[in-house]
Amino acid sequence: MQVKNIIVIMGPPGSGKGTQSKLLGEKLGYTYFSTGALLREIAKQHTPLGKEIASYIHRGIIIPDEMMTEIFRQKIGLMNSIEGLILDGFPRTVGQVKILGGLFKELGNPKVRALFLEVDKQKLLDRVIKRGEGRADDDPSVIEKRFEEYINKTAPVKDHYEKLGELVQINGDRPIEEVHSEIINKLGL
Ligand code: AMP
Repeated sequence: MQVKNIIVIMGPPGSGKGTQSKLLGEKLGYTYFSTGALLREIAKQHTPLGKEIASYIHRGIIIPDEMMTEIFRQKIGLMNSIEGLILDGFPRTVGQVKILGGLFKELGNPKVRALFLEVDKQKLLDRVIKRGEGRADDDPSVIEKRFEEYINKTAPVKDHYEKLGELVQINGDRPIEEVHSEIINKLGL
């Protein structure tokens, strides 16, 4: 599959990545792809892979890069060529950044931009607990672990895009529509 534009949406748990990714996808006519949603689907299946993935998600731990790569490649391989792709939750480790880089040629050297949604931690905790989506990993003890994983493994991804000058920072602590408008403005769309 070939894609002209990739927008990576990053941010800690509860920062509104999913909501903003979907809105942006609708606005631009880009395909929305959430690795978290895909993994939750696979986790529901009573297969060895499904059970293994479920055990990571329920503990708030990131799935190992090799496993994630395989799943990501497979999904991308099934897609038709598109104008743009919004990646919600991928890449989430520096290893995954390299994996995405390794796929660039196959994808037709897309233009990549990374958006980072900034929200302070106490507000994030309140949001995740209040959003009540019934996600098994929204339990307070699991949320703590997800934060820890985020700080240790995902924050370096933000630094990576910042160094490349591909990072767009957004204040995510505002009403949904305002955050959406800032995203559109800052991306120059
Ligand atoms: P999310 O819906 O993005 O919050 O993801 C929910 C859970 O799925 C995470 O806590 C991880 O266990 C797993 N997950 C989602 N995306 C990735 C990824 N790119 N790499 C590894 N694990 C992931």
